This record gives sequence, C-alpha cells and structure tokens, in this order.
Amino acid sequence: MSSPAELREGYEHFDPRAYLRNNYLPPRADFSSEEFVVPWKLRCLAETFASGEIRGRTLIDVGSGPTIYQLLSACDHFEEIVATDYLAVNREELGRWARGEPGAFDWSPFIQHVCKIEGRGEPWQDKERRLRERLRRILPIDVHRPEPLGAPLRPPADALLSAFCLEAVSPDRAAFVRALAHVGNLLRPGGHALLLGALGESFYLAGPARLPVVPLEESDVREALAAAGFALRELRSYAMPPALRTGVDDVDGVFFAHAQKPLEA
Ligand code: SAM
Repeated sequence: MSSPAELREGYEHFDPRAYLRNNYLPPRADFSSEEFVVPWKLRCLAETFASGEIRGRTLIDVGSGPTIYQLLSACDHFEEIVATDYLAVNREELGRWARGEPGAFDWSPFIQHVCKIEGRGEPWQDKERRLRERLRRILPIDVHRPEPLGAPLRPPADALLSAFCLEAVSPDRAAFVRALAHVGNLLRPGGHALLLGALGESFYLAGPARLPVVPLEESDVREALAAAGFALRELRSYAMPPALRTGVDDVDGVFFAHAQKPLEA
C-alpha cells in the first residue's frame, strides 16, 4: 500500500512522453488485430456510444493525462468535452494536440482506427477537427477533494469518462471508492459514467516516475461502484496477453465499466 504523500511525490516525476511511449505506441497500440489492448479499449467505447443513449451538452473526462484516444467516440455525442488532469505537464501536452501544434503526439492512427470500427465511412480528419473544436476546456483536477474541480461544475456533466486514473492515484481501495464518489459529484442524476482501468496492477512507469497503483479485481470494481452510489450497467474485462507484458507495469488486465448515477428520488 502507498501513502498519499508517496503518490504526490511520484507524480512530480511523471514524464508524459515516456508514458505515451509505454502505452500508446506498438506493441500495445497495434491496430492489426483486436487482440491488442488499445483496439480493445477503443471498441468498448465505440460500441457503447453507438447505442446513442449517452449524449448531451457536456462530457467530462477525469484524469485525461496526455491522451485523447478515450474521447474519439464520445466527441460525436456532446457539444463540449471537458478534459482534466492534476499535472500541468499533461494539460500542456493535451493543449499542444488541441491547438494542432508541431511536436504534439500523433493520434492519427487511433483516429483512423476509430473511424474504421464506427463504420460510417467518415474521413478521419473530420473527426479530428470535431474533437479539437469540442475540446474547449482543459482543467486542473484533484479527485481526492469532494469538489474535484475546486467548485461545482455548472451545469453538472451529462456524462463522465475516466480511463486509468482513479486506481492509479488512490493509495487503497477505500480511497478509490471515495474518489469515485467525488467524481460522481460532477455528474447530473441519471448521467452515465464510463470507466476504463487496470486490473491486478501494483505499479506503472512514466520515465523516472514509478507510480503505485491499487490492485483491483473485477469484484472490487463492482463493489466500489455500488458503494459510490452508481448502478452498474455493464462490466467487461480483457486479459493482458504475454506479448504485451513489456515491463512498463505489472497489469494483469483491463476493465471497462458502464454505470449510471440514479435519478434522485
Ligand atoms: N487517462 C489517461 C490514459 O487513459 O492513459 C492517463 C491515465 S494516467 C495512468 C493517470 C493520470 O492521473 C495521470 O495523468 C495523472 O497526472 C493523473 N492524476 C494524478 N493524481 C491525480 C489526482 N489527485 N486527481 C486526478 N488525476 C490525477
């Protein structure tokens, strides 16, 4: 188990470029087969948004880090996407991509793949443009505060997305449940929450940073969502194949959860 101070200290050394290299280039980001982890994540999101049920004015992405892949299917269904992260270096990396600046990470293979699996024949440049237009705010956040943005989001978000954040910033399962409840405060009653996260992981690397992670099993995810007041709609999981166990973390698998905040009585 880690302490909150160890976690904060670890994130001071987080290198966004190293994190992107470890997780969003081959072998993990290999689009030749759905057996690889990145296409699996993108398919979970594409299929869930394809139902058309999750839509509205604002979607908030909690702990976006330096990545935008998680927003590619979402951006068709919301007028505004709000990205968030604790670290200024990650918010700056996102800003560089949003402004189309030279040196930004190349997400085009991800965008092309999502257009392919969505199957509407949309040119990938149109989706890229749409996400850039809709990604209007990139805000600081701390999920350990009951008000993670420092003030309530007005109006609250219609949907919430969070990928690989809460378990990677929580010292233990109790803190993971509290963080889930805190981010739930950003969501309107009836709003949808989509979570991607690590199963059985105790650490990951991002350059000089070695970040502790609270190891979760599927049953922990179910129990945490219930304890934080969410109704679970769907839970899927993926087992990390040996070829993708590259030493950049000790993850066993990935979960995808679709949950909903109940309507107030
Ligand atoms: N969402 C990205 C992805 O899918 O790859 C990044 C996930 S990364 C494993 C975890 C993120 O949590 C980092 O970007 C980190 O800066 C952020 N983070 C660290 N402490 C946090 C906190 N207290 N509140 C919110 N986010 C935090």
